[in-house]
Amino acid sequence: MKFQSTRDLDGEKLSAAQIIKQGLAADGGLFVPESIPTLTSEEIEALRKVDYPTRAAKILGKFLTDYTEEELLADCRAAYAKTSFVGGAAPLVALDETLHSLELWHGPTAAFKDMALQIMPRLLSRALVKTGEERTALILVATSGDTGKAALEGYKDIDRIKIAVFYPVDGVSRVQKLQMQTQTGDNVYVCAINGNFDDAQTGVKRIFSDKGAADLLNEKGYFFSSANSINWGRLAPQIVYYVSAYCDLLNKGTLKMGEKMNVTVPTGNFGNIFAAYLAKLMGLPIDRLVCASNKNNILTDFLNTGTYDRNRQFHLTMSPSMDILISSNLERLIYFTAGAERTAQYMKSLSETGAYTVDPDVKQAIDASFCGFFADEETTAKTIRAFMERYHYLADTHTAVALSAAEQYIEKTGDRKPMVVASTASPYKFASDVYTSLYDKAPADPLAALDALSAKTATEIPYPLRGIGERKVRFTDVVPAADMWEAVKKYLG
Ligand SMILES: *Cc1c(COP(=O)(O)O)cnc(C)c1O
Repeated sequence: MKFQSTRDLDGEKLSAAQIIKQGLAADGGLFVPESIPTLTSEEIEALRKVDYPTRAAKILGKFLTDYTEEELLADCRAAYAKTSFVGGAAPLVALDETLHSLELWHGPTAAFKDMALQIMPRLLSRALVKTGEERTALILVATSGDTGKAALEGYKDIDRIKIAVFYPVDGVSRVQKLQMQTQTGDNVYVCAINGNFDDAQTGVKRIFSDKGAADLLNEKGYFFSSANSINWGRLAPQIVYYVSAYCDLLNKGTLKMGEKMNVTVPTGNFGNIFAAYLAKLMGLPIDRLVCASNKNNILTDFLNTGTYDRNRQFHLTMSPSMDILISSNLERLIYFTAGAERTAQYMKSLSETGAYTVDPDVKQAIDASFCGFFADEETTAKTIRAFMERYHYLADTHTAVALSAAEQYIEKTGDRKPMVVASTASPYKFASDVYTSLYDKAPADPLAALDALSAKTATEIPYPLRGIGERKVRFTDVVPAADMWEAVKKYLG
């Protein structure tokens, strides 16, 4: 399997190891496989009977054809070990006959980013060997909170890799900030920027495309790589849990082979929901993909109108990992529905005017699979309360946005197919807002909110968040977004 850029301007085709190493295509586009591998019902039948790491190795093997089965299975076994995913890798919890919560947050940082970032460093480490690379990889990450911590945990103390993480100083929760500031490991650096997530992401992209920066790094024996969801190594592992959820629905007798499920995904950068779309393209029986947004509902508008317009107000919400106005991975959907040439045109328009409108045939192709709904802050809080009252189910703020969108979709269409809702964070990662949504005022100290939530709901604080207040703060730098490269240089010495 070879990969190419969504803008395919240079016609270059690269191997999986090469693109995992490189991250972003040279022309500024994102890497996509040149064809979509298929998943037959016989294969799904076989996957039903095996555990999550085996399911993962099989699916990854369809894309990462330059990795051996043994390599992938060993990496998946290590990544999704029961010691780090203590509650299981991706358990599917039935709430009622229609709604199923796919809990993706039982890993070491209590958010779904672990699903990809526990395996990706292992894939990169092998990619260095496979491509004969002798330099050290410098991973630059822009994070709206969860990616940063998950990447730090995934890459810490891995040989020949260094990682620098940038987060918006006021754009992450107190728990998220503490998780990053207290990160252990000798090869890690964490820095806040004055700006929002888009500023951080734009800053990382700017450094990536700066020839002078790359030359300087090269002299020092480094090269840039990315762990953001623009990297294919992030996306491929996310396909797995949708396949796994389908297998689980078969095993529970909720579905018969070939019957379709729907999927709702709380969306920010469009990586997670795009992985579900890929699963559908491969042949997994998925009917509708419901894209759930918070008050930053640029994707809802795009799916309704065909116009993507980022010239709008940016809101900070209680689901900060979805506070995004540039959903990078949407470019991959555009590529699969419009082709490389039009993708390049639309993206040019986006960077020049902040907006683009897709042609009617593209809109139609997207409509065939996707629809969008959003939940504002009040609706999100109400949804957290409603699911606690109705199902005694404790949802985090991001998951609540998705549960609301799923309900809006069902209400509007009457479609009662099993709806798999991606649950993307532990409620304890956003304990203050969850507590406030349920019981009015949370304790002023966000860490006390963890204990209060646990006491009130009789649920347990997940292991990665226990005792977080006692850990040593190591990283306190705050810089203007324009100075990110300076900060990196200082870190490398
Ligand atoms: C990253 C994240 C999202 C958004 O996922 P995308 O792949 O960026 O669309 C949603 N919820 C949580 C908790 C996240 O960490």
